[in-house]
Amino acid sequence: MNHRSLAFRLGAWYTLLLSGVFALVGAGVFFGLHHYLRVNLADTLGRRSAQVEQILLQAPAEAGAGAIAREIDTRVAPEFNNRFVRVTRLPATVIYRSRMPADRSFDPSAVTVPQSDGAKPVTTVVPDQHLMVRVTPVHAVSGDYRVELGVSTARIEEALERLLDLLALLLPVLVVCAAGGGYWLVSWALRPVDRLSQTAEQMSLQNLSLRLPVVPSGDALERLSISFNTMLGRLRDSVQTSRRFLADASHELRTPLTVIKGELQELTRESHLAEGDLHERIGSVLEEVARLEHLVSGLLVLSRLDAGEAQGAWVDVDLAELALNTAEHMQLMAEDRGVEIDVSELQKTVIRGDRARLKQIVVNLLDNAIRFTLRGGTVSLRTAADNAAGVLEVADTGIGIPPAAIPEVFDRFFRVDEGRSREDGGAGLGLAIVKSICLAHGAEIEVRSRPEFGSCFRVTFPKRSLAPAPAPAPAPAEPEAPLAGPKG
Ligand code: ADP
Repeated sequence: MNHRSLAFRLGAWYTLLLSGVFALVGAGVFFGLHHYLRVNLADTLGRRSAQVEQILLQAPAEAGAGAIAREIDTRVAPEFNNRFVRVTRLPATVIYRSRMPADRSFDPSAVTVPQSDGAKPVTTVVPDQHLMVRVTPVHAVSGDYRVELGVSTARIEEALERLLDLLALLLPVLVVCAAGGGYWLVSWALRPVDRLSQTAEQMSLQNLSLRLPVVPSGDALERLSISFNTMLGRLRDSVQTSRRFLADASHELRTPLTVIKGELQELTRESHLAEGDLHERIGSVLEEVARLEHLVSGLLVLSRLDAGEAQGAWVDVDLAELALNTAEHMQLMAEDRGVEIDVSELQKTVIRGDRARLKQIVVNLLDNAIRFTLRGGTVSLRTAADNAAGVLEVADTGIGIPPAAIPEVFDRFFRVDEGRSREDGGAGLGLAIVKSICLAHGAEIEVRSRPEFGSCFRVTFPKRSLAPAPAPAPAPAEPEAPLAGPKG
């Protein structure tokens, strides 16, 4: 038996408590009965003594001791009723003393009762004779008397002794039963916990679909199993997401590596290449290396965000200044693609956050907007403090996103048109990174889009992220690496 186990400790406490209660109840019964029997006996004594007092009070003035004794013998019959009667005419003449009782429970000649001078009846116990005696002073016409009437306490003592024996026998039995029963009860009550732990032991990362049995007890145990199962569900989802992420990442990494390998193999085989061809081949390898670099830095950013390393120093950042700054950096890319960037709706909106990460949001959204907008289109940036919350919007007049794809655009490695996006250098991580940064800033991102008409990505920063007093916009502090930069 494990002495430190919960079942043992609870059982021990239960036994201790129950034994205490048994002992208290036993003592209560014993003393209660003892008191009740004594009071009862004293009552009986009072009634019998009244009979003798009556005889004395009714006796005429000239009544002699003989007549009184006869009267007592006839009406009280002490020997037959096993009582002790002694009548003393004051000061000290014993005029009547009963003889040996029928049950021989005491010796009348050996009874000595402590003298009392009081005018009231007194009840005392003569321990050596096991006798309870009531002493009553009587003032009659025939003289002053002291009446002593006693009855044996042996029967009461015997009954109490028997009760004591019974209690002494019962108490250990009850304690043993309580200990055994308590241990069994606690073990039985803890059995569901055992089952929970057995199921929990069978679980592993490979076997996360197992669920703990839910005991419908409506108590903490039921709540524990339910929350444990919910936690397991979340754990399974997260493990599955990581596995999928790893598989997708490997797949994405393999494609450029295969291309690089193929190009390099061909280069080694064709040793006499013209300089122009050589440059073209190397250029294509470098393109794939850039794609790889972009992909790996995207993965790095995501894994850092997942690990909770979202924040560098949190500072006051003016979204308008940040958007303008980024737009200037990407102006060349936009011009290349014949897309105009409109920055006319930038209102000073200061929020608190990690400047480098916030810039990553603008870069990724702007990069997508430029890439997915046809020549002659416009990309508009808007910042404002709407309803006391900071808002950043990147809208374009581009190709738009089909409604069915909208719920998935923030998923890792998702691309609406895989071929086209890959050609552009997109790995399907840009929006996932934006989403993770938003999450780290407590911000929400939503997208509205209509194919052929364009899309609008809106990031809403919560009220609490608004800086208390608009501070002067910090200088566009660099370095901001590692960032997944624009792909175009
Ligand atoms: P990628 O790096 O491939 O661009 P993102 O995560 O940034 O990946 O975007 C996921 C997909 O969402 C893109 O492949 C593209 O199909 C779609 N998308 C994102 N932004 C836009 C936009 N402004 N207009 C149209 N489609 C977009």
